[in-house]
Amino acid sequence: MDKTGIYEKCGISKEVYEFGEKILYNLRDRFSGIDETAEYNQLKVINAMRQCRVSEACFTPSSGYGYNDIGRDTLEKVYAKVFSTEDALVRPQMTCGTHALSVALSSQLRPGDNMVSITGKPYDTLEEVIGIRKSVGSLSEYGITYSQVDLKADGSFDLEGIKAAIRPETRLVAIQRSKGYQTRPSLSVGSIGEAIRYVRSLRDDIIIMVDNCYGEFVDTVEPSDVGADMTVGSLIKNPGGGLAPMGGYIAGKKECIEKAAYRLTSPGLGKEVGATLDLNRTLFMGLFLAPTVTASALKGAIFAANIYEKLGFSVIPNSTEKRCDIIQAVTLGSERAVRAFCEGIQSAAPVDSHLTPEPWDMPGYDSPVIMAAGAFVSGSSIELSADGPIKPPYAVYFQGGLTWQHAKLGILTSLQKLCDEKIVDIYI
Ligand SMILES: *Cc1c(COP(=O)(O)O)cnc(C)c1O
Repeated sequence: MDKTGIYEKCGISKEVYEFGEKILYNLRDRFSGIDETAEYNQLKVINAMRQCRVSEACFTPSSGYGYNDIGRDTLEKVYAKVFSTEDALVRPQMTCGTHALSVALSSQLRPGDNMVSITGKPYDTLEEVIGIRKSVGSLSEYGITYSQVDLKADGSFDLEGIKAAIRPETRLVAIQRSKGYQTRPSLSVGSIGEAIRYVRSLRDDIIIMVDNCYGEFVDTVEPSDVGADMTVGSLIKNPGGGLAPMGGYIAGKKECIEKAAYRLTSPGLGKEVGATLDLNRTLFMGLFLAPTVTASALKGAIFAANIYEKLGFSVIPNSTEKRCDIIQAVTLGSERAVRAFCEGIQSAAPVDSHLTPEPWDMPGYDSPVIMAAGAFVSGSSIELSADGPIKPPYAVYFQGGLTWQHAKLGILTSLQKLCDEKIVDIYI
């Protein structure tokens, strides 16, 4: 079918479109591998819903204390099945990924305990949760100590370092699957499993928590399948499937989930309270869509990697590497290029396409950051979005795409902007 006409209406020149088609032609095998993973995960989710007998009654709103909210309780059972865990806590009351991680950590740790991150510096917002950066209410204020073992230069776990860091008072080991906004590689579930086995060989009573943000459904196994006691993430990323308007989850051992629930609500109340208003239907439906939505985002990330690598930019992961999360970093080398890239993503969005993103001084960052997002759910990063700190090496981090077709348009529009501004030349 000739689609150049409709692409032209969307502002994509014939040259840019055809450049994209050439790149895509060579990605057929990668894409079919992603579809295989999505098929497996789709069945995993449907099977969990069947086994838990999800029914129309699960979509009934609850209010007040939310006692006997069967939708909420069933959704938690479904998550536990999908993640192969004993139990799960899946709540809109967990406001975001950071909050879910904060609940997971603070529910297991007691004064005098030590936690060790074995994947180096954790995600920015966790620095304040832990107290690496001084902040009110941090774990550090409660007398919980923190140590860190960096990954080795090749991105693998530093086993010697881990052995040296684990002390008698170490109660919890934290692992972060995705690189977040760092340049290290993201970790495969396989390598996370090896690290978990190693930690267990040293001490079998340590709680192992995995920050699973951006990793859900990228593989057919999750960190919980390879021994993590708690697997934690955000519902406005992969597992919410773009429909969840808020929330976080913790899937894990019964005892860990119980403690997390008592921390989230209140001692004595735990999982029994927590009205879901009218959200259950969207949380179920989002989980149902999550495997294919994640596949769309992955296709977009791989398409972008291949386009920009071909044009001579440094991309992480590179065009052929195995994917462990949905984030794609592209080092563009100048402020002008970062702006043009983000303007392209913004103008291809279904919402707020008429706005021009501008860099601003975001709290917690040491340089202005430009963000492109035209999302149905505010701040959702399973929707097509990009952001880049305005400082060398001028990299943009790109993720999401509820549909592959939208991700494709966004990436082609970014390329069109870079061509229009004569920053890249696709005719060479
Ligand atoms: C996004 C993210 C978080 C925090 O999630 P928020 O929903 O933004 O609070 C934590 N860790 C990683 C690796 C993430 O990607």
